[in-house]
Amino acid sequence: MQKAPPRTVQTDPPEWLSALLGGDRAALARAITAVENDTAEARAVLQAIRDKLGRAVVVGFTGAPGAGKSTLVSAYVRALRERGQTVGVVAVDPSSPLTGGAILGDRIRMTQHAGDPGVFIRSLASRGHLGGLSRTATRVIDVFDAAGRDVIVVETVGTGQSEVEVAEIADVRVVVNAPGLGDDIQAIKAGILEIADILVVNKSDLPFAERSARQLAAMSAQRAQGPVPVLQTSATRNEGIAELADAIAAIGRRKRPDPRARQRRLLHALALDRLRRALESLPDVEADALAEQVLSGQADIETVLHDITSRLRKT
Ligand code: GDP
Repeated sequence: MQKAPPRTVQTDPPEWLSALLGGDRAALARAITAVENDTAEARAVLQAIRDKLGRAVVVGFTGAPGAGKSTLVSAYVRALRERGQTVGVVAVDPSSPLTGGAILGDRIRMTQHAGDPGVFIRSLASRGHLGGLSRTATRVIDVFDAAGRDVIVVETVGTGQSEVEVAEIADVRVVVNAPGLGDDIQAIKAGILEIADILVVNKSDLPFAERSARQLAAMSAQRAQGPVPVLQTSATRNEGIAELADAIAAIGRRKRPDPRARQRRLLHALALDRLRRALESLPDVEADALAEQVLSGQADIETVLHDITSRLRKT
């Protein structure tokens, strides 16, 4: 039989933390700032929310800049509000550490939600390496979750490796495309198709939306994990948004959001990030020497791989 976990001594949390758990906006803002900046209060916040997680569905929107993500997220948020659900939005911009993150969430398309207490928007910019961003995003998501937000939307600006990593934290991942991308469908970049739960062709009011949807469906059919729904939306005309919200909700129910899964995905992202950075720091001469060993038959590739990974384990 397993031993019961040791009980931690609970002292009453300060009033503002109780207010946070009750969904108070000012407390929410304070808690997010704390975890974002890793201030002294952050620990108390994380302690207070630890056993209050797992209610919210986390929905990630990613896709190439210009596909209409911001407009679509805004329309989706409106649909959620019409359904009586409260929303937290985490807008993530890994590409512009200095200014972008601060501007992202305040973009004009979100201003329609500015006066709505049921919508809370927070932008995060990159600080240092990407792993830090994934971790901060996860903490902000956790705070929203504990504060009782029904749906948490994570919006990233592009389709680079970093965005994929952040998007992977979400329970339901929506990849947004625009029509007329031709052969160079942006979704295939950086393995983004592989992580999608739903593929969207936004701007369905423009020509070639139908064709792009067919191309995406064909690509999705070839996924190792099986095909995913391909939906068409026009964010500006508010078309297809209810269907998108329905599809997201259905997947959210099926996946049953789980904070442990979120934590596991975060650990996965952080481990990959660390591995990548460790590999990048491998001097070229060493990498060349290893490649040479394989080429010359001095060592087989498995042995070399084992050698590299065990070396990384020590970093
Ligand atoms: P993001 O960079 O992916 O976040 O894209 P934005 O939301 O900023 O949108 C880029 C441009 O596409 C803006 O000018 C939007 O008004 C426009 N846009 C967004 N959705 C639609 C749509 O459904 N139809 C059309 N025609 N334009 C759209």
